[in-house]
Amino acid sequence: MRSILHIDMDAFFVSVEQVRDPSLTGKPVIVGGDPDGRGVVAAASYEARAYGIHSAMPIARAKRLCPHAIFLRGSHHLYSEFSGRIFDILDRYSPLVEPMSLDEAYVDLTGCERLHGPMTETAERMHDEIKNTIGINASVGMAANKLMAKIASGMAKPNGLLRILPGHEAAFLAPLPIGRIPGIGPKSGEEFKRMGIHNVRDLAALPLELLEEVYGEWGYRLYQKARGVCESPVLKRDDTRSISRETTLEEDSTDPAFLESTLSGLVEKAASQLREEGLRARCVSLKLRYSDFKTVTRSHTLSDAACEDPIIFDTVRNLFRKLFTRRTRVRLIGVALTSLTSGAPPQMELFENLDARQWQKLYQGIDRLREKYGFRSILRGSSVIN
Ligand SMILES: [Mg+2]
Repeated sequence: MRSILHIDMDAFFVSVEQVRDPSLTGKPVIVGGDPDGRGVVAAASYEARAYGIHSAMPIARAKRLCPHAIFLRGSHHLYSEFSGRIFDILDRYSPLVEPMSLDEAYVDLTGCERLHGPMTETAERMHDEIKNTIGINASVGMAANKLMAKIASGMAKPNGLLRILPGHEAAFLAPLPIGRIPGIGPKSGEEFKRMGIHNVRDLAALPLELLEEVYGEWGYRLYQKARGVCESPVLKRDDTRSISRETTLEEDSTDPAFLESTLSGLVEKAASQLREEGLRARCVSLKLRYSDFKTVTRSHTLSDAACEDPIIFDTVRNLFRKLFTRRTRVRLIGVALTSLTSGAPPQMELFENLDARQWQKLYQGIDRLREKYGFRSILRGSSVIN
């Protein structure tokens, strides 16, 4: 039985600003872009949320909803510094801390009882230490796996602690709206509602075969999530590193098939280094430099860290297909793997299935490419990066 804790700072950016300037406390404060510009809300105090403001909302709309709010541009440097201090505290409680963002982490406390006492008391001490030394409120979820710990911290907000006892996962989830399941966003939530699926109980009643048929691999995960099952381990992140491969093309290209096959070669090299070092990557980035030297990058965070070529390639190819729509000539293309973690890969049957399927998909794709563009379309991509 594992003891997993998920800790998430409340309104982190705003809380940091309030520590720096206590006169902001108790006021509607919004951190984000220029209130007269086109940016979005990065964080809103609970006082601002009372006006219906939430993060990712266009900031102009937030200003209409609450014109007297205090708008701040925010400082990434400052938030990183606070984040570092928070993680210094977490690291003292467990050697297994997996940061999910500046203000959110999983902490594996399995086997720490003899050192720190019962999990609930440890959680309270961590919470209080962060409050007393840094001045920020956190919400804490405790459970036997990451999924349930995350759901618990979400429900404990703001400034609360919630433990879901092992064995009670499915019963706890049953009455909750399906939007509480991480990964079910507003869009898929709406889709489910149209099918008459409102709470987790409705979702759990769907047979695995049906979910898999409709959603593929994601269907299997939904089936597991609806039961509160999650085998994903807490992975220690090596924050300082990234593994990347990029190449300047011999000739600028607008040919998506050629660019994708080049990407495939770059992924092969980056992923094999990743595996050699016993690492997995959670974040995959694409870099394109156009013939006018304008450079753009796009990133995607995986729900589980991966080291397999097909998963990484699929991710970067999706980024490429979304970004490369205007057919501007490309002179440089690259892939970067960040948020690296070490540790055992998740031992789920799901990943074995996923691998086999995705490998197959990749090779079918490569074969199709070769049929269409000749064998050298793939070779050429690899040869460019040697
Ligand atoms: Mg937070």
